Amino acid sequence: MKPANTTDIAVIGGGVIGLSCALRLAEAGREVTLIEPNALGSGASYGNAGTIAEYGIIPIGTPATLRNLPSLLFGRESPLSIRRAALGALAPWLAKFVVQSMPHNARRNVEQLVRLLAEASADWKELAAQIDATHLFNPSGALYLYKSQAAFAAASSDISLRRKNGIGQEMLTADEVAKLEPALPPFAGGGVYFPNAIHLRDPGQVMARLAKATISSGVNVITATVDNLKRGQSCVHLTGKNLDICAKHVVIAAGAFSKPLAQMAGEAVPLDTERGYHVEYDMEQPLLSRPVSPTERGLYLVPMQGRLRAVGTIELGGLTAPPNQRRLDLIDRAAKSIFPTLGAPSRTWMGFRPSMPNSVPVIRPSRGGNDIIFAFGHGHLGLTLAPITARLVSDMVR
Ligand SMILES: Cc1cc2nc3c(=O)[nH]c(=O)nc-3n(C[C@H](O)[C@H](O)[C@H](O)COP(=O)(O)OP(=O)(O)OC[C@H]3O[C@@H](n4cnc5c(N)ncnc54)[C@H](O)[C@@H]3O)c2cc1C
Repeated sequence: MKPANTTDIAVIGGGVIGLSCALRLAEAGREVTLIEPNALGSGASYGNAGTIAEYGIIPIGTPATLRNLPSLLFGRESPLSIRRAALGALAPWLAKFVVQSMPHNARRNVEQLVRLLAEASADWKELAAQIDATHLFNPSGALYLYKSQAAFAAASSDISLRRKNGIGQEMLTADEVAKLEPALPPFAGGGVYFPNAIHLRDPGQVMARLAKATISSGVNVITATVDNLKRGQSCVHLTGKNLDICAKHVVIAAGAFSKPLAQMAGEAVPLDTERGYHVEYDMEQPLLSRPVSPTERGLYLVPMQGRLRAVGTIELGGLTAPPNQRRLDLIDRAAKSIFPTLGAPSRTWMGFRPSMPNSVPVIRPSRGGNDIIFAFGHGHLGLTLAPITARLVSDMVR
């Protein structure tokens, strides 16, 4: 039998996490092979809200989420939905989500996110310069909007939690919101402005530049899917159609698809997916200067090059079902409730957030040894946390 090709480090997955890890490792002088079946950066990393959300320290699961669950599950225009057909498969993840939403667990998850997010904006500024993409980053902050004083009051515990953890945030009256973003309709509850947030004017273009820099740094890209991963005595053997490679180290960075790979490395991780959507409206001037989130809608409206992207919501529904038109219609209605003159959507998209029940990514050596490193499960924060993930992974591969 023909001997397998060898490599020092194989990175599985060419999303923002895999690309950032591969680039960092190659720059540290390592020999890196990246394995990805599709265009680099074309998964969840392509269609997101493009926000470097260093303020995103609050996990999805909290005591407040549990309290609001009935209205979140059954509200007509709720940003959360669960596909009934997927309920059985989701049950173990949901049970863990409930446990992680309890006060003491939620507190611990906040602490972990605070630590990971501390340098997010600074790290991205550095990476943006390195991949020649600074012009695609807009350092104009981000804005949460509240439709009423009551909605703002309901957010007070989140606001104090962020204050306690040193997150930059400014309270804005309805008039101040109107001055910052004149095209918005009135938001009687005002807003919270996050001055340190940065947003990508075009995540697809940033991914293209990250991929180009990764290839220029000497990373060898193989177009294939890893179907099997097997630990051997001297290397980890990765195989698939047209793939047969032995690596001293493997980084599993396959986003929402990492669970079976971790299983082959000997660990059952409770990874699932929160499907998210975007709807785009082409226009020369995209109405806003920064990402804004009408909080009760569970989405962002984000100005991007030549278009406005309405993006977000959560659909628990697994990795195989096709996009749900009802979710896209919901986002279209939400966008038009803010900007009634928007025309028909120019394009739509669905992507798979790689989600852990505690909202904390898995960035660590596998329990079987640091020949296999886990770098997945970044949920709503994968873009934000890519550079720090790469730094942590690079320190683990010795
Ligand atoms: C609607 C939405 C909005 C979001 N907004 C934001 C935001 O504003 N800010 C933020 O920080 N984050 C945001 N996120 C989250 C962020 O996009 C993700 O956390 C991040 O993109 C995950 O990156 P990844 O590289 O792990 O996954 P992906 O980008 O999905 O990449 C994983 C790659 O692995 C490949 N792969 C899978 N299986 C295999 C295999 N067996 N072999 C080889 N390759 C494989 C896939 O083809 C894919 O390209 C958002 C997500 C969504 C869906």
